Amino acid sequence: SERFKAELITNVSHDLKTPLTSISGFAELMAAGMYQKKEDIAHFGQLIRKEAARLLEMINSIIFLSRIEEMPAEAMQEAVPLGGLIQSVVEFMDPFCKDKQVTIHCQLTEDKVRGSSSMLREMAMNLIDNGVKYNRPGGHVYVTMWRDAGQHQVVLTVRDTGIGIPEDVQERVFERFYRVDESRNKKSGGSGLGLSIVKHIVEQHKGTITLTSRLNEGTTFVIR
Ligand code: ADP
Repeated sequence: SERFKAELITNVSHDLKTPLTSISGFAELMAAGMYQKKEDIAHFGQLIRKEAARLLEMINSIIFLSRIEEMPAEAMQEAVPLGGLIQSVVEFMDPFCKDKQVTIHCQLTEDKVRGSSSMLREMAMNLIDNGVKYNRPGGHVYVTMWRDAGQHQVVLTVRDTGIGIPEDVQERVFERFYRVDESRNKKSGGSGLGLSIVKHIVEQHKGTITLTSRLNEGTTFVIR
C-alpha cells in the first residue's frame, strides 16, 4: 500500500502537470488581452474547458482507485444482477455511442455475482467506454454474458471491432497511466487509468481478466 501510494504520487504529479500547464498558459494569454476576437476567446475557452475536464476525470479515477483498496468486506457481499447493471451502463452511454456512430449489442443473463455493485458498474463502464472510444464510425461492441456452470463462474466478454492494441504492449495496458500511443489517443481524452481500475476491481472480486487483440481488427476482454 505504501509503495502503491508513493508510485501514485510520482505519476499523478507528472500527469496532472501537463493539462494544468496548458490551462494556465491559455489563461495567462487571455488575461493579458492577447485574444481580442470573440472566436479566439471561444476557441481557447473550449481548450481550457477540455483540459479541465481531463483533469477532473483523472482525479475522479485516482480517488476511485484508492477507494477500491479500502472497500470494506461487507460492501463486497452484495448479490449483484450483473446483466441488469450492464444494461443500465449501455443505456447511459447511448448519446456517446450515437456521437461515435458505434452500436452496442448485448446478450445478457439474469445471473447474479457476489461483489460490489458500484465497483462492477465502474468495471463495465470502463470496458464498454473503451470499446466505443477506440472504435471507428460504423463499428460495433458486443457484450456477452454466460454462466460456466462447471466452474461456478459467470463469464463476461466485451468485444469490439475497433483499432486494436499492438501485441507488444498488450500486457502494459493494465498499468496505471499507460496509454498505447499519445498521438492516437489525443482526440479521445482519457487518463490511462481505466484498465488499471478494471483489473483492480476484477482481482478484488477474485476474478480473472484476459485480453486478445489484433491491430485494426478489434479487441476482446474476457472476465471470469
Ligand atoms: P484511457 O482509455 O484513459 O487511455 P485505459 O487504461 O482505459 O486508459 O486504456 C489504456 C490504453 O489501452 C488506452 O490509452 C488505449 O490506447 C488502449 N485501449 C484500451 N482499451 C482499448 C480497446 N478496446 N481498443 C483499443 N485500444 C484500447
